[in-house]
Amino acid sequence: MPGIDNIPNQPLIRVEDLCKAYRLDRHANQPVFHQVLFDINLEIYSGEFIAIMGQSGSGKSTLMNILGCLDTPTSGNYWLAGRNVAYLSNDELARVRNHGIGFVFQGFNLLKRMTALDNVAIPLLYAGMSRNESREHALTLLQQTGLGQFTLHYPNQLSGGQQQRVAISRALVNQPQLILADEPTGNLDTQTSHEIMTLFKQLNGGQGITIILVTHEDDIASYANRTIRLKDGRIIQDKNKGPL
Ligand code: ADP
Ligand code: MG
Repeated sequence: MPGIDNIPNQPLIRVEDLCKAYRLDRHANQPVFHQVLFDINLEIYSGEFIAIMGQSGSGKSTLMNILGCLDTPTSGNYWLAGRNVAYLSNDELARVRNHGIGFVFQGFNLLKRMTALDNVAIPLLYAGMSRNESREHALTLLQQTGLGQFTLHYPNQLSGGQQQRVAISRALVNQPQLILADEPTGNLDTQTSHEIMTLFKQLNGGQGITIILVTHEDDIASYANRTIRLKDGRIIQDKNKGPL
């Protein structure tokens, strides 16, 4: 069952006047807040490929975590496929996170004691699929990301680029409509970064998966069709790539 029931012609993501502040001193009488996001307004349509750029500390990961329903805004609204996320039940939120969204991180976040195949199969096992069926499905995904020959390798027997392909395969297991990737090429060399971006481009173009990706680098952002630039928690630029 898909995790996000998208409505045609409506934005997949709509964010209105979203703010985020962290409370710094949990115990003080006079609370001190650190505001990280200011009045973010954003519409993202299904099938877009977006790069979020900005200096370290500008709020990129905070925004991604809110879009991924891993964190909540302090004020403002976030509609995902037309539904206000603030009013979703815990079960509905879990369904969105587990089935609607695939997450990819800079540090790969693989389980070290499991093979590539089992790293990809594990979410399916948790979802109740049989061991054989989940491994078969994981194998298909690893083949799709170019790792068909590395299924029995453990993470420390794989290069960074291969580990990121395992993580991307794992993000794809539940056929997400949306992939959120936070600096997925941050730990990779230039050539490997471009290979990983080519894979994202294929997933976006071939399967129509909406991709939102954080990067520092212009040449990585150039794979996206739209670039959103954050500075000190505010959007300072939101630009579509013009026709070539
Ligand atoms: P980026 O991903 O663009 O580097 P982040 O979204 O991680 O930026 O962080 C934005 C700002 O929020 C930073 O100043 C960071 O120190 C602060 N911040 C992030 N998480 C927390 C937290 N849990 N508590 C307090 N401040 C935080
Ligand atoms: Mg970050």
